[in-house]
Amino acid sequence: MKLDEKVTEIGDNHVGTSSETPLRTDAFDLSDEEKREKINHHVAEIMHTLGLDMTDDSLSGTPNRVAKMFVNEIFSGLNPKNKPKASTFENKYKYGEMLVEKNITVYSTCEHHLLPIVGKAHVAYISSGRVVGLSKMNRIVDYFAKRPQVQERLTMQIVKELQIALDTEDVACVIDAKHLCVNSRGIRDIESSTVTSEFGGKFKEKNTRKEFLEYITLDTKF
Ligand SMILES: [Zn+2]
Repeated sequence: MKLDEKVTEIGDNHVGTSSETPLRTDAFDLSDEEKREKINHHVAEIMHTLGLDMTDDSLSGTPNRVAKMFVNEIFSGLNPKNKPKASTFENKYKYGEMLVEKNITVYSTCEHHLLPIVGKAHVAYISSGRVVGLSKMNRIVDYFAKRPQVQERLTMQIVKELQIALDTEDVACVIDAKHLCVNSRGIRDIESSTVTSEFGGKFKEKNTRKEFLEYITLDTKF
């Protein structure tokens, strides 16, 4: 198989190549402002190429809007300076059971089509003596989601980050998400969603894993 065919097939099948986001070493040589200027120019080129009249009032601001959205919002998680500080605390009350943060909203972007991935992440850990603020788990999910992503890699990156922050292997993450590249184009399957999971340490054991999966299917009512 030729390389370009292989690359197309990897994209079509949504297979990622590594658990690290493939960034170049010069990824942050340009400032955010310089990036916005370049992206603005290129988006305008794409729209012009499509035959759109870029002097139209409704379209003229779009390239700038897209450039801002890419750099400041949906791809801001590429830049380590935007990484949330994962401050942890001593587990004073000696809670040694599993802690589950479920139904964390995920907004990400498929790196093969640049279309949205929308879903829920469920994260759990068993404390080794350190605990992390609850909202911190949401922020970590959000940080890694704000990149061009592959769902498998996103799941692994969340687990890895929490394993380091909490100094334990006992971390798990399940993500259930819809990929608009599948739902709105190509096969156009509205109903399908993709589930990925990563189980570290004790979560590799059948009973611990089962307990976690039971918690996330609990129907929380208020
Ligand atoms: Zn896609």
